[in-house]
Amino acid sequence: MSEQHIETEVAVIGGGVQGAGIAQAAAAAGYKVTIFERHHWAAGTSQRSSKLIHGGLRYLETGQIPLVYHSLQERARLLKNAPDLVKPVKFFIPIYKDTSRRPWQIRAGLTLYYLLSGGGQLARFRSVPKSEWDQLDGISTNDLQAVFQYWDGQTNDKLLTEAVIRSAQEMGVTTLASAELMEARKTANGYRLTIRTLDGHIHCDCKCLVNAGGPWVNDIGHRIETDTAPRSIDLVRGSHILVNKTLSQGVYYMESPRDGRAVFAMPWGDKALIGTTEVIHEEGADNVTPSTEEISYLQATFGHFFKNDDATVLEAWAGLRVLPKSSELANKRDRDTFFLCDDPKKASLIAVYGGKLTSYRHTAERVMDYITESLGKRTVVADTRRLPLSPLPQGSE
Ligand SMILES: Cc1cc2nc3c(=O)[nH]c(=O)nc-3n(C[C@H](O)[C@H](O)[C@H](O)COP(=O)(O)OP(=O)(O)OC[C@H]3O[C@@H](n4cnc5c(N)ncnc54)[C@H](O)[C@@H]3O)c2cc1C
Repeated sequence: MSEQHIETEVAVIGGGVQGAGIAQAAAAAGYKVTIFERHHWAAGTSQRSSKLIHGGLRYLETGQIPLVYHSLQERARLLKNAPDLVKPVKFFIPIYKDTSRRPWQIRAGLTLYYLLSGGGQLARFRSVPKSEWDQLDGISTNDLQAVFQYWDGQTNDKLLTEAVIRSAQEMGVTTLASAELMEARKTANGYRLTIRTLDGHIHCDCKCLVNAGGPWVNDIGHRIETDTAPRSIDLVRGSHILVNKTLSQGVYYMESPRDGRAVFAMPWGDKALIGTTEVIHEEGADNVTPSTEEISYLQATFGHFFKNDDATVLEAWAGLRVLPKSSELANKRDRDTFFLCDDPKKASLIAVYGGKLTSYRHTAERVMDYITESLGKRTVVADTRRLPLSPLPQGSE
């Protein structure tokens, strides 16, 4: 059993996209950074998302304008900085006789989406003429009244997270996987962490501790000595199924016939990814799986729109959203990141709750505001708004 002692300025717990982004941003701002992940990079929610790099058209309905705005800014940056990881994709919104959202509402939403994105190629949208409906991957045309098409982005969330980790490594971040935070004790200058590794323990002294534990944020919080109470949250399960269907045109925005929720059918290689659900998750955050009800809900939604296709499930998985605790329906709640900080002027502990894959860099900037206020400014090494991100070349480790 080995025992090691290390020192760092900023210690990040959790190697999902948020932790990776914070490690990258802190290194870019000139701090000495170490990130600890108990399994492997993107072991949690960051490989179980819908893999969309988007502003979130549907969030306009709940008035989440700032979230949509900064997500659209981040979408544009990712398309530019990570062209091999994030691709533009067409989205189709079919409107049937019984669709609750009427064509004028969709047109209004898309116009606002256009304005918030600041224009450009990807902001364009159009009404697809009837003569083209038979090219839409076999979607049902019974009682179809209109189809709108707009643009968003799609990625591989795990590869994107790994690319952010590599970018952090290139700026000198110490990145430790298979390294689980067991305990954090307050010291005069910050925290002393006990990290369990495969062959022993690391003791790490840090000035600023960032808890980016995703759905484990409050479990990790219980291991950290602090007087600051954790934020009250709900974990909301979101499931996906993979079915044998090739979607050659893009993503389809389906309104569930059961409850009117938006469900996407997305191309995933030569298969289709259908998701997602929103179910309050009462159990722990480990080993989450979709329930049979969620699977049949997703199959029924897919089958309603793609009547001639086989909805047999090839694979199914679930991830957990972190949402502020509330009695409101999950799809009406705020999706933006929120924070816990022990002292906004001299933070030694910052916890990150919720947020989007798309806006991980924006979240990291907000965490940097706390860190810079606490530790003071350093010589800036890079600007994360412009750092390129690329996948590993094929065949390399
Ligand atoms: C179903 C679903 C669909 C979504 N779809 C989209 C989408 O299409 N587009 C979008 O922008 N956003 C989407 N999101 C949101 C996005 O996926 C999340 O915001 C993001 O992945 C969360 O990343 P994270 O780093 O906070 O958490 P995670 O990725 O869960 O990372 C937390 C990490 O902490 C590690 N950890 C836990 N305990 C410890 C410990 N003690 N020590 C060390 N490490 C520890 C875990 O192993 C894990 O790797 C979706 C979310 C869900 C649930």
